[in-house]
Amino acid sequence: MSQVTQAKSSKFHSGNIAFIDLQAQQQAIRSQLDVAIARLLDHGQYILGPEVRMLEDELAKFCGAKYAITCASGTDALLLALMAKGVGPGDAVFVPAFTFPATAEVVAQLGATPVFIDILPDTFNMCPSSLAAAVQSLDKNLTAVGVMPVDLFGQPADYASFAQIAQQHNLWIIDDAAQSFGASLNGKLVGTLAEITCTSFFPAKPLGCYGDGGALFTDDPELVDIIKSCRVHGQGIDKYNTVRLGMTGRLDTLQAAILLEKLKLFPEELQAKQVVADRYSQAFQSIATVPTLMAGATSSWAQYTLCVDNRDELQAKLKEYNIPTALYYPTPLNSQPPYQQYPCAPQGLPNTENICQKVISLPMHPYLQRDTQDYIIETVLSIC
Ligand SMILES: *Cc1c(COP(=O)(O)O)cnc(C)c1O
Repeated sequence: MSQVTQAKSSKFHSGNIAFIDLQAQQQAIRSQLDVAIARLLDHGQYILGPEVRMLEDELAKFCGAKYAITCASGTDALLLALMAKGVGPGDAVFVPAFTFPATAEVVAQLGATPVFIDILPDTFNMCPSSLAAAVQSLDKNLTAVGVMPVDLFGQPADYASFAQIAQQHNLWIIDDAAQSFGASLNGKLVGTLAEITCTSFFPAKPLGCYGDGGALFTDDPELVDIIKSCRVHGQGIDKYNTVRLGMTGRLDTLQAAILLEKLKLFPEELQAKQVVADRYSQAFQSIATVPTLMAGATSSWAQYTLCVDNRDELQAKLKEYNIPTALYYPTPLNSQPPYQQYPCAPQGLPNTENICQKVISLPMHPYLQRDTQDYIIETVLSIC
């Protein structure tokens, strides 16, 4: 019996359904984690210890990127990527409006201007024609420098279409892959779909640690040097030599040790989530809009998200049945107070506004037992 299957064997009880079950995962590898943590306590190299280098090698090998650089969070990964690209005041970076705040936040933190783009109604990812229109009609006082698509809920965005637009206008592409590590597009894994890819190891992400963590992927050795320098305060040839503005952005050795153990389990976890997603979609396709994958795409299923007209009612009823749900995202980012001053695509964001009112995410993790899945499926069907 595999570790994932074995961890699923606890008894079903409708009072304790987890939205994402980190405890079951911990149980599956607890003894390996104890050994890994003890090893760290013995060697005592808490900052950039040997596990950090080992993890970077394993992550790069996993996705096929030439280089992986770990860092302190997914947000720091995005920030380091933009710093490496020299983003600053007067620069415009195109981001989807239907995303987690960090995507636009890092752009604004560097004094640059996030420009909000609409999404496609079926995949929820950035819409290429909305992007093209926004690039064309950009304010003359701004310089278009890059595009930062998000692989929402675990599915890669449409990189082939973005690459065409980017080429025409000399833009770089940075993949906000905080939700999609482990997914692929036309046989290429996330980590290799853009010039720089940024992911998060926040505990609830597809590959999570026990705190905050993140990583960047690229094939460009010059970018690696700049990112590694920015990760330690713009360090040059040694610690007494400072060549640029940077930050404290390292991944703890402890988190690297934990991630090395979790990475071994990760392929099997991705498969287990696909089984759940297939069962959900089969059951719900007649009563809701179920997730659509682009041709050639696989998802890491960070979230399983339905679109329904009676979203709030469904969420309230499911709560009565002890089924946890979440709303990613109920408000377009451009209408949150810190972002209202920034421009949007010229045709507005009608798909984003519509989808925000309909989305509801269901429990989704590799340890969701079949009888729990049945309970969730039957309950949702009986309400709709
Ligand atoms: C979680 C997330 C981030 C930020 O990751 P942290 O590790 O929490 O900093 C960025 N972008 C998206 C789309 C996310 O979902």
